[in-house]
Amino acid sequence: MSLFDKFADVAKARADLDRAEIPPVATPIDAVHSATEGTIGGRRVILAGTNNYLGLTMDPDVVESARRALSEQGTGTTGSRMANGSYASHAALERDLARAWGWPSAMVFSTGYQANLGAISALAGKDDYLLLDSDSHASIYDGARLGHARTVVFRHNDPANLDRRLARLGDDARHALIVVEGLYSMMGDQPPLDAFIEVKKRHGAWLLLDEAHSFGVFGERGLGVAEDRGVLDDIDFVVGTFSKSLAGIGGFCVSRHAELEYVRLAARPYIFTASPSPAVIAATRTALDKVVHGQALRKQLWRNIHQLYGALNELGYTLGSADPGPVAAIVMPDRESALAHWYGLLDAGVYANLMIPPATPKGLNLLRISLSAAHSPDQIDRIIDAFGRLQKAA
Ligand code: PMP
Repeated sequence: MSLFDKFADVAKARADLDRAEIPPVATPIDAVHSATEGTIGGRRVILAGTNNYLGLTMDPDVVESARRALSEQGTGTTGSRMANGSYASHAALERDLARAWGWPSAMVFSTGYQANLGAISALAGKDDYLLLDSDSHASIYDGARLGHARTVVFRHNDPANLDRRLARLGDDARHALIVVEGLYSMMGDQPPLDAFIEVKKRHGAWLLLDEAHSFGVFGERGLGVAEDRGVLDDIDFVVGTFSKSLAGIGGFCVSRHAELEYVRLAARPYIFTASPSPAVIAATRTALDKVVHGQALRKQLWRNIHQLYGALNELGYTLGSADPGPVAAIVMPDRESALAHWYGLLDAGVYANLMIPPATPKGLNLLRISLSAAHSPDQIDRIIDAFGRLQKAA
């Protein structure tokens, strides 16, 4: 018996995939040439499996902001926000975020994972209730564990199921926090937000919306699905990440409640970790401005989304969501065909994501394309051609 015995099954599954010349999980990307092009296994490929929804990783202004902060302020803060890691730029980014929503308070975390971990664990403590959608991201489940809240899981995207579970809490619903996501990244589906809000209000509960994948993509100013559906006033907390549309690394929580400031005093993933580097903060401030004023980028992204969704439907693929969005999840009949498709796409010069159990809901085998405003019409055509040829060959 050893400490390592428990890894045997997962290590074997991983070793099977790693035997391939180019492993389909944790695939080494040898070089990145632009927001949409890289080299994998010696081949030049279209990057169609990133979360670079607005293509801002290589935006000259964003890069220049990072470069300037790097040379002026150095590589890292070397400390926590609670100690020596609160620079003027961290506070400025928090003001920018709060202003974008028109809300009184915003907090910056070192990753999106830590934003959920910190906000959820601090808001929902051991005497409170958490109601989590069953398809929630790991950072949401881990936030529940860290805060020791009494956790109830409701059926994915099912407001009636949430309603029944809240009804059982009676008056305790007033200190219950519901968490849903704006876009579920495995299947690419969106929540029935209006119905969730109606349930939340009727029971007097609180709502945290994780807009990790929807921020930058939905809404006139890119604030996410809550802005898009005109329900911002009914959301208590929004969590987001810098690692997708904002093209960096870090996370945030914004709230209509000024008391979010208390979370700084209690959130361990905020207190006991170093703050984001000055370069990341400077790049994110510039990227945030580009997101809020990014109507043209969003228009291009949505053109790409509609083109790809239309073509995949026409080719007869089963998609994870009927509603088009920046993530197209293609449901494959089994693991072998998912793998064959993944390699077929790579041979055709397209890098997609392979998503297999246990990472996926319902044990599904998925191929996932993430679209970017930076994908050119020619690149979208090439992605569609690759799928067309694979479908014919199957
Ligand atoms: N929330 C959701 C819904 C996510 O999908 C992710 C990352 N994939 C995160 C939070 C964590 O974000 P980050 O990668 O920036 O830590």
